[in-house]
Amino acid sequence: MRPYEYIRSSSPAEALRANAASEKPHYLGGGTNLIDLMKEDVERPDTLIEVSGLDFQSVTANAAGGYTLGAMISNTDTANHPEVKNNYPLLSMAMVSAATEQIRNMATNGGNLLQRTRCPYFYETSMPCNKREPGSGCGALTGMNALHAIFGWSKSCVAVNPSDMCTALAALGATVVVLQPDGGSERRIPFADFHRLPGDTPEKDTNLEPGELIVGIELGEPKFSDNYYYLKIRERSSYAFALVSVAAGLQLDGNRIVDAGLAMGGVAHKPWKLTAAEEYLRGKVPEAAVFEEAAERAMADARPLDDNEYKVEMGKKAIVRALMQAYERTA
Ligand code: SF4
Repeated sequence: MRPYEYIRSSSPAEALRANAASEKPHYLGGGTNLIDLMKEDVERPDTLIEVSGLDFQSVTANAAGGYTLGAMISNTDTANHPEVKNNYPLLSMAMVSAATEQIRNMATNGGNLLQRTRCPYFYETSMPCNKREPGSGCGALTGMNALHAIFGWSKSCVAVNPSDMCTALAALGATVVVLQPDGGSERRIPFADFHRLPGDTPEKDTNLEPGELIVGIELGEPKFSDNYYYLKIRERSSYAFALVSVAAGLQLDGNRIVDAGLAMGGVAHKPWKLTAAEEYLRGKVPEAAVFEEAAERAMADARPLDDNEYKVEMGKKAIVRALMQAYERTA
């Protein structure tokens, strides 16, 4: 690991100032991804600014009738928080499915939003990777790409976002709250705009501006608290990243669907919101044929690579299964 300066910030203003004063700074939350990347020489910050102790540690009621999750709360404490479990159990279920308890105890909410792809070429510094080294090429595009994207990829990068938490936040329609480096004014970023597709600049995972500090995740009124399911399909039953995952929430009125939240993980450079399927589901009777049609619509634009055509069929079945589980209120 390369040498770096370590700064423990005691206020947001101090963190923002330290960031502005450094050439290659990086905020440090739990470090569960960043430190690994530094050990592998993928990330090379000259300054780590510890922000995990800042006062964004609580789940608080917000003006939208929902709750704001502090960015520095651990993933474990968030998933187990009574307001999260009661009001957004889809999020709680997704977070519990991610990583071991030890990692979730360390990982922060802000850090989870920024975790980087697990594409093996990204971690292997002897291989070409545009995300790690812009302009060097994409090893996965013509290499082993069974774990990679089927939506929204470019010839520059075919990686997927690895976060279970973010897949649920996409289905719930969250908003990310950040402090700007201009003295700390707030900016709110709709979740659909927070992560990016790779395009010609896959080195950028998000639309954060340099120096911006994530301080919270806003959720609206409690959603899908009765009918929800997070289905994660992975290569082994112990903790692993998703081949395909589906966050599904339904709001029912009698025997009609009045609202639906659907997003997939493991299929794109960002959590993949299934907008066409959500729109189709509204007003329908919840039954197998309707869920199958929603899945067809959700996967219609899939563009599999050489090794991952299986994700298209797996994705359809996962959508139907997650919707059925949500409808049947399977906890
Ligand atoms: Fe790098 Fe993206 Fe290609 Fe993986 S898919 S090798 S992260 S550019």
